[in-house]
Amino acid sequence: MKIGVIAIQGNVAEHAGALKRTLALRGDPGEIVLIKHSGLVPDCDAIVLPGGESTTLARLIWREGIATEIVDAVGAGVPVLGTCAGLVLLAKHGDEDVARTKQRLLGVMDIEVKRNAFGRQYDSFETSIDISGIGDGFPAVFIRAPAIVRCGNGVSSLAWVGDYVVAAQQGSVLALAFHPEMVPDTRVHQYFIDMI
Ligand code: GLN
Repeated sequence: MKIGVIAIQGNVAEHAGALKRTLALRGDPGEIVLIKHSGLVPDCDAIVLPGGESTTLARLIWREGIATEIVDAVGAGVPVLGTCAGLVLLAKHGDEDVARTKQRLLGVMDIEVKRNAFGRQYDSFETSIDISGIGDGFPAVFIRAPAIVRCGNGVSSLAWVGDYVVAAQQGSVLALAFHPEMVPDTRVHQYFIDMI
C-alpha cells in the first residue's frame, strides 16, 4: 500500500507521521510517498492533501502537473483526503475570496466552501466533535479553517460546528476543515486507510 502526501507546503510531516503511526498500530505494511512533482500520484493507492495556504498550494499543484493527476486519481476511485486548505482545493465551488485570488480548485467534490469561515477571533481553536461513521468526541483543531456551506447530491455531511459542515465525504473523497494530523487520536486516519 502506497499513500502519497502532497508535499508542496503545509502540514506534510504531520500527516506523514500520523499515517505511519496509524499503519504501525494496525500492523499494516505501507509506504508513505512525499509528492513534490508529477509522475508519483498515479502509483499511489491513496492521496492526502494537507492544510497550508490554499492559494499557494493551488498555484503550485497546477503548475507542477500534480493537480491533473489528482483529478484523474479521483476519477479512478482512489481515496483522497483533504484537510483544511486541502478541503478548499477539493471543492467545486469557492467563495468571493477564492474568486478574488483567482484560485483554480480541483473541483472533485460537489461542495461550496467558505475560506476562513470561523472569523478572526477564532483563528485557532480546538473543539470536540462527533463525526458520523468515524467516532464521537474527536478533538478537532481548527486553524484559520474553512467551512462547507453547501453540499450537492451524493455528498454526505459527517460533522458540524454550529451551522457549518466541517467534514464531508463524496465517494472516495473525504474532506475535513480541521487537522486530524495534529492530535494523537488516529480514528480519522484509521477510517481513511480503511477506505483504501
Ligand atoms: N485559511 C487557509 C486557506 O484558506 C487554510 C488554513 C489551513 O490550512 N490551516 O488557505
